[in-house]
Amino acid sequence: MQNPPDPREAEWTILNLLKWATGYFTSHGIDSPRATAEILLATLLNLKRIDLYLRYDQPLLKSELSEFKSLIKRRVNREPVAYIIGKKEFWSLDLEVNPDVLIPRPDTETLVEAALSCLGPVDAPLDSAGQVLELGTGSGAIVLALASERPAYRFVATDISLKALDIARRNARRHQLSSVVSFVAGNWLDPFSPNESVFDMIVSNPPYIPSDDIAGLQPEVKRFEPLLALDGRSDGLHAIRQIIISAQPLLKPQGVLLLEIGFNQKETVIQMIQHCGHYHSFQIIKDYAGHDRVVVMHKIG
Ligand code: GLN
Repeated sequence: MQNPPDPREAEWTILNLLKWATGYFTSHGIDSPRATAEILLATLLNLKRIDLYLRYDQPLLKSELSEFKSLIKRRVNREPVAYIIGKKEFWSLDLEVNPDVLIPRPDTETLVEAALSCLGPVDAPLDSAGQVLELGTGSGAIVLALASERPAYRFVATDISLKALDIARRNARRHQLSSVVSFVAGNWLDPFSPNESVFDMIVSNPPYIPSDDIAGLQPEVKRFEPLLALDGRSDGLHAIRQIIISAQPLLKPQGVLLLEIGFNQKETVIQMIQHCGHYHSFQIIKDYAGHDRVVVMHKIG
């Protein structure tokens, strides 16, 4: 490291350290260098970011300096901030994350918004207990966002990764949603009998990146995030195809399937839905960056 904080020097105050770390991140091409320095230091000191500025001239202990240095090294080695601090905010929920689960993306809030608008307003009467299924829940971000907004529904969420399910369950407990969401281990729809048309909604952010594109992703993604949650096989559409075909028997008539898709997958996914023939009134929704991001389709019936 250039000019590392020297634990023997007394003048390493919060402010000095933030300035130094910001410059260090900048020289290593790290995004949002100031915010990154603030988040790492605030987490280490167990403070809110804003509190760093109330204590800007507080000197750090030697042990804090060396711990901060190791956090900085991890970030310069391209480990995502969310894995370093072990959490990520999604839909205003503070979620535990680690490399067993994908870090929830702001793009995926578009999927949550679309799902909520399909479920209708929070006070809309439910004929019977409405049931929502999420496939490949990872940290639980999507199902917990939906459950926090529509607690009158029953939610089921699956993942093939038992380690991911552990995290999702802990996140459900953290937000007092364990009684509303059940977690089931299994590959996509395999845990369910196709004769049970019980779900009002099925929602998923499946892996959709073509295998050959993985090598070109940012180091933060390809070196640290779970390949299982990213790799959509040769054309990127393996999981999407499987879900579109196998979800429809499990949906109630008029039930809705919502999927997150890659920015360039709209045409192929539309062809897939039309070819499948079990859905009508499909719709594509863009994310805030203007990319086609979510496909919504209703089961015929
Ligand atoms: N949106 C994620 C990315 O860009 C991919 C998530 C996925 O494959 N479902 O890395």
